[in-house]
Amino acid sequence: MPLDQTPIIDALIQIVGEANLIQNEQDKARYLMDWRKQYNGNSMAVVKPATTAEVSAILKLADEQNIAIIPQGGNTGLCGGATPDQGEHNLVISTERMKTIREVDTSSQTITVEAGCILDHIKSAADEHGLLFPLDLGARGTCQIGGNLSTNAGGLNVIRYGNTRELTLGIEVVLMGGKVLSLLSKLKKDNTGYDLKDLFIGAEGTLGVITAATLKLFPKPIATTTGFAAMRDIDAAISLLHRCQAASGGNVIAFELMPKTIIENVRHFYPDTPLPISDIPRFSALIEIASTAEDSGTPDHEGTMPLEKNLTEVLAKAIEDGLVLDATIARNLTQRNTIWQIRELTPESEIKAGKAYKSDISIPLKHMSAFYDEAEKAATAIMPGIRIFGFGHLGDGNLHYNLSEPQEKRSDFLEYYPAFDEMMKTLVMKYEGSISAEHGIGQKKRDVFISTKDPVALEVMRSIKVALDPKHLMNPGKVV
Ligand SMILES: Cc1cc2nc3c(=O)[nH]c(=O)nc-3n(C[C@H](O)[C@H](O)[C@H](O)COP(=O)(O)OP(=O)(O)OC[C@H]3O[C@@H](n4cnc5c(N)ncnc54)[C@H](O)[C@@H]3O)c2cc1C
Repeated sequence: MPLDQTPIIDALIQIVGEANLIQNEQDKARYLMDWRKQYNGNSMAVVKPATTAEVSAILKLADEQNIAIIPQGGNTGLCGGATPDQGEHNLVISTERMKTIREVDTSSQTITVEAGCILDHIKSAADEHGLLFPLDLGARGTCQIGGNLSTNAGGLNVIRYGNTRELTLGIEVVLMGGKVLSLLSKLKKDNTGYDLKDLFIGAEGTLGVITAATLKLFPKPIATTTGFAAMRDIDAAISLLHRCQAASGGNVIAFELMPKTIIENVRHFYPDTPLPISDIPRFSALIEIASTAEDSGTPDHEGTMPLEKNLTEVLAKAIEDGLVLDATIARNLTQRNTIWQIRELTPESEIKAGKAYKSDISIPLKHMSAFYDEAEKAATAIMPGIRIFGFGHLGDGNLHYNLSEPQEKRSDFLEYYPAFDEMMKTLVMKYEGSISAEHGIGQKKRDVFISTKDPVALEVMRSIKVALDPKHLMNPGKVV
């Protein structure tokens, strides 16, 4: 007999008010489907608390009534982590009403925000105080900081500023049962026992609901320079990365690998997209360097900005040494945007190209080239004509090594996913990499995660899970 949910619904209305409890199927639908429309679930309701106290009351009720909780931020996650399963005895907690910026502290250079703050709004709030919150990803206008923390999101500037974990000083979390674990702190140094905040960052909602965080802010760059280089090969791109880091004092803020396949695909769907250079080889690199030094904003007597001069010299030497075949540097904002345009249009063009097997791997840089080639050979052996769209954050050793269906579409493409999974898993393990660099595990990568992670690490993770959530009510079916 189906459980009578009326008392639970009544209690939830008492906590958040009727207007903040979604029960009708049509309004619930967008919360029950993931961004890529690969996962769809059920839920008795979507509940939208506005405060930590309300989250606490919901988790107390959930514990008493054995209701599973699925925390959800902007729902832009790429592994189905925020989507409930088919059962109905669960609640989606959407943090979209928790969007207060509690404090910007310009002296400590921190910002304290609630979990539902949209990433772009945090960036703007920092900017209004002349500071930078450097986390940056394509979903910046929709994803929320609670989701960023829970997936330990990476993005474009990890090479210089680190991922979300490295940008976080403190968090506030509500545990199953309703206890509030208050770890909000502005301290860079605090060696008092275990660092509990790190347990919740990247936990994908399986240990508690993050309600707030204190994040690091940085000085805003005064000058930025952007270049695009046609590379001899991947190893040459890695050498160029190291040279750029050395010459700029570690100020490379983005270093993206752009294969010819991707550039051609972008141009196929967006033919007006200008090419930064005329002859595109198998691999190119997009480089961005920024500086906060005051003199970086002052041109020399020839009118050249110091960073531009610096990058020009590095590229000229790399051309001389045969690493770089051709290169260009943006002289103004329009040229910078032109260089970034191809990178920014990559995800959309990929979707237009048809179905794609997506991956988000990291590989030690010394093995990247061997991995790339071997994976290309293996994927082509599985499906001749498959298009290798392996691009992204080379500077972090992280590529989105996606396999796009052949130009002559294959109705059976999805049937090959297990073979691609196996191939990817084998090669990532062979080259000492990770099957998830920045997107997390969610439901998508759970099996491959469990089959590849060190068994002792899994045992420790399961012990932590049981200690914090003995009834397995927090985001069941995800991660461990
Ligand atoms: C166009 C596009 C580009 C992207 N680019 C990148 C990229 O470059 N780098 C990158 O790392 N990711 C990228 N992503 C993936 C995604 O944006 C990130 O994973 C983001 O951090 C998810 O935030 P969200 O608020 O949408 O979280 P959601 O999708 O809502 O949730 C993600 C996970 O976090 C959990 N969660 C959410 N909020 C909380 C909370 N308050 N407490 C506890 N658990 C919570 C959910 O249960 C789920 O497991 C991209 C996605 C898109 C659509």
